[in-house]
Amino acid sequence: MTLRVAVVGGGPAGIYAADILTKSDVDVSVDIIERLPAPFGLVRYGVAPDHPRIKEIIKALDRVLDKPEIRFLGNVNFGTDVKLEELQEFYDAVIFSTGAKSDRDLGIPGEEHSIGAADFVSWYDAHPDDAPTWDFEGATRVAVLGVGNVALDVARVLAKTADEMLVTDIPAQVFEGLKTKQITDVHVFSRRGPAYAKFSPLELRELNHSPNVEVVVHPEGFDVDADGMEHIGKHKSQKMVLDTLANWVGRDEVGKPHRIHLHFMEQPAEVVTDADGKVVAFKTERTHSPNADGTVEGTGEITEWPVGQVYRAIGYKSDALPGLPWDERKAVIPNDGGKVLDLEGNHIPGVFTTGWIKRGPVGLIGHTKSDAAETVGHLLELTTETAPQRSDEAVDAFFAERGANVFTHEHWLKLNEHEIALGEAQERLRVKVPTREGMLDAGQS
Ligand SMILES: Cc1cc2nc3c(=O)[nH]c(=O)nc-3n(C[C@H](O)[C@H](O)[C@H](O)COP(=O)(O)OP(=O)(O)OC[C@H]3O[C@@H](n4cnc5c(N)ncnc54)[C@H](O)[C@@H]3O)c2cc1C
Repeated sequence: MTLRVAVVGGGPAGIYAADILTKSDVDVSVDIIERLPAPFGLVRYGVAPDHPRIKEIIKALDRVLDKPEIRFLGNVNFGTDVKLEELQEFYDAVIFSTGAKSDRDLGIPGEEHSIGAADFVSWYDAHPDDAPTWDFEGATRVAVLGVGNVALDVARVLAKTADEMLVTDIPAQVFEGLKTKQITDVHVFSRRGPAYAKFSPLELRELNHSPNVEVVVHPEGFDVDADGMEHIGKHKSQKMVLDTLANWVGRDEVGKPHRIHLHFMEQPAEVVTDADGKVVAFKTERTHSPNADGTVEGTGEITEWPVGQVYRAIGYKSDALPGLPWDERKAVIPNDGGKVLDLEGNHIPGVFTTGWIKRGPVGLIGHTKSDAAETVGHLLELTTETAPQRSDEAVDAFFAERGANVFTHEHWLKLNEHEIALGEAQERLRVKVPTREGMLDAGQS
């Protein structure tokens, strides 16, 4: 028997799921359906361009796509090009791994004048569905809300010079956009104390390596109470982060032209605009931690920071998929260990999920592997041959009739070569093609 499986979403979670399926005792045939021409999801369109070492994971993921049991069907959007009941004609099981691309809301006055980190990240990572330009609105000081790695990525890209970013894979439109930046000071705000900062120790220390950016850790709010001590006792990496921050707090500035300021125990209160709706300041409220569990409350002490833009890096959010149940509160597909559940809580036969759309947008690329293993375990246990049309040719005929311009793995390999060649000409590893038409052209011509 050969199980036929469709994976919807070609990010790391979907590719790991396909890989694990091929390593099982069962014969499988897997099609990965991806809305973009390029695979790899947020590894290509989320991980910061100046983190080439992490982007290298793409090479391992690409080797999976090379397996004979796996086909990549790019440039196909689930919901418009194909629906669940149509997929069930051709596949015994469908795994949804569509990840996350939107920003969470904050719920403060003036929020509509702030910018979601996901939009900015998509721009600097040259996502083909997003506008090619970015308006820094002449801001010299900006605020970034959040103390995770995405906040650090955003703060770093806002603070670094365009020339520093030119060694990366950014296309000309991003380089030109970054050159218009006049930002000298990036203020990063955390509502909790430094013991709870969720940065990776390596990413934090790396901030110090830029010749143009210095990190200023402000002493106000830099307090570690008994709960904070207990917390870092249980979380080794957060202890390393705290040690680094403690080394930097209050140190003398060395006079680099740009600064990233880290402020603790300041919670977002309001984005302040002028009569034309232009951001002129950001208000924060000092917090304190009166409870034994380390939670914080506002003290009523407000500070107004004169900034020209406010970036929210408080978390990504997944979007509901047409025809599938949705847990509005958690913004995930309701599931039990990857088995998709209907409104009564029963498993919908043959329908599974993995990655960020399964468990919410937290965790590193590596976490999507163990996640996929759990989902595939259930799939192999529960799935039988149910699809009436059991051939790749039937799938190809369906998409041809739909008028979908399927971008295959061979097309991606050609696009990949093209991007590497563009890079070589500029002594860079790669230069990304930033538009869908350009990607299709490079891969299919
Ligand atoms: C800004 C940022 C920086 C990060 N940096 C790091 C880092 O440095 N190191 C690290 O380990 N982790 C990092 N991560 C986390 C990592 O990217 C995630 O853990 C991982 O990408 C989640 O994988 P996923 O496959 O679930 O989702 P995604 O990577 O989001 O992939 C989902 C895929 O589904 C596709 N899709 C969506 N809707 C449809 C549809 N309707 N039809 C067809 N396809 C669809 C999308 O185009 C996408 O390709 C970062 C995340 C972000 C947001």
